[in-house]
Amino acid sequence: DSNTTLNSDEDNINVVVRIRPLSEKERKSGEREILEFPGNGQVICHAKNPGQRPKVFSYNVVFEPLATQEDVLEYSGIKRLLEMAVEGFSCTAFCYGQTGSGKTHTLTGPPGLVESGASPLAPGQGLVIRSFVYLFQLINERPDSHFVLKASFLEIYNEKVIDLLNPGSARKPLQVRWSKESRGFYVENLFTVDCEQLDDLFAVLEEGMRNRAVGAHAMNAHSSRSHTVLSVRVRRELRADASVNCSTHGKINFVDLAGSEMTKRTHSTGKTLEEANNINRSLMVLGYCIAQLSDGKKRGHIPYRDSKLTKLLADSLSGNGVTLMIACIAPTKSNLSETINTLRYAARAK
Ligand code: ADP
Ligand code: MG
Repeated sequence: DSNTTLNSDEDNINVVVRIRPLSEKERKSGEREILEFPGNGQVICHAKNPGQRPKVFSYNVVFEPLATQEDVLEYSGIKRLLEMAVEGFSCTAFCYGQTGSGKTHTLTGPPGLVESGASPLAPGQGLVIRSFVYLFQLINERPDSHFVLKASFLEIYNEKVIDLLNPGSARKPLQVRWSKESRGFYVENLFTVDCEQLDDLFAVLEEGMRNRAVGAHAMNAHSSRSHTVLSVRVRRELRADASVNCSTHGKINFVDLAGSEMTKRTHSTGKTLEEANNINRSLMVLGYCIAQLSDGKKRGHIPYRDSKLTKLLADSLSGNGVTLMIACIAPTKSNLSETINTLRYAARAK
């Protein structure tokens, strides 16, 4: 089992862009919008100076500011990732972009919504919860199989892996190791939760988000400086064949990346510089792995081992699954240079 490979004619990376709406504050202060969406997956970015030519980028799908959370579930391609996870592939969906561009909003909605106990399909609910609902829908459509779901939720801060489900560990960093047996990287002693019902997955999300907020406060670190990875392992056993151990092991990862502005050369010193370097490195390595993947050079050298993040995502980045990149951008002129950086990073991945 687990020897599933993709047909070579299928893309194993899907890149979409989401533009957040103007905030109330931006609207009041009369900030200028500089993006245009002519359709066909294109984004036109108008330059600062009227003399300069606008830049044109193209992607699989572009979500304009009025797109809903439901639209992102329907048209981002995430449903295909979930279907593949159920079939035994390892898939990853991640949000990339500068701080304030809408990464967390896309994944988990506005602050406090998950914790409020709102219905899973309430309008603001993000991609993660909507995906959980869809995952259970898929499972319920397959009565021939028995499913075992196991969820984990971790944070990578400054190249240290912290368990978001086990605060008893006092945010003690966990080790990433290589398993000869399963031929993959894993986090030693990471807490995993058996999820028999939809509510169990919600509880994992909620608990992890709460612990992340507490931890971020205690360490005086802003969430923009860490990556979070929520993983759901999907083990499927065909009921008729249970005795002969016919099973598949799929996985879906949801990754909320550190703010991409941290990749800038920074003039800070000491701890902040070390942080920036570590974030810089993991986002660079991720970008590099994805560029290789999209080139179809599946068996070429892909530098997974160069960061904790890419080690943990290695199985899905290696071509044994599909990766969805959601590049998040802000619509205003004051964010122009970060927006161009994000659009370029995303275009390289396509
Ligand atoms: P990031 O996680 O990239 O730093 P956030 O997701 O926190 O950014 O978004 C910044 C702010 O903009 C938040 O208040 C968020 O709720 C709001 N926001 C982002 N995207 C949207 C959207 N598509 N619709 C409405 N509000 C949004
Ligand atoms: Mg965020």
